[in-house]
Amino acid sequence: MIPMPRPIFQKYVAPIRAEDYPIGTVAESGVLLSGSADWRRERPVFNADLCTGCLKCYLACPDGAVVREGKKVVLDERFCKGCGICAVECRLKAIRMAAERE
Ligand code: SF4
Ligand code: SF4
Repeated sequence: MIPMPRPIFQKYVAPIRAEDYPIGTVAESGVLLSGSADWRRERPVFNADLCTGCLKCYLACPDGAVVREGKKVVLDERFCKGCGICAVECRLKAIRMAAERE
């Protein structure tokens, strides 16, 4: 299975002076300037023993936060918003939602 490329992650630092703002886009294609999970209250926890690698959660995740790793899946926490769709979609209950600080 060919590994899917992940976005290049760069922290956005706002220019201080108006003249330092770029003309055009602030980053190249494939670069994300910030994570999207700062306000997440819950996160999915994957049980690798129950996971069959069906990839349903991978396909259902609206944020591309489920990543294929070999025949299993793992979470890219930087982009998971904690919506819980993956846990609902997993028929084998291999994903449970846990409090962010658990
Ligand atoms: S939906 Fe469940 S069984 Fe399928 S890949 Fe995701 S965690 Fe594994
Ligand atoms: S909780 Fe939502 S955003 Fe996070 S991995 Fe699951 S489906 Fe994707």
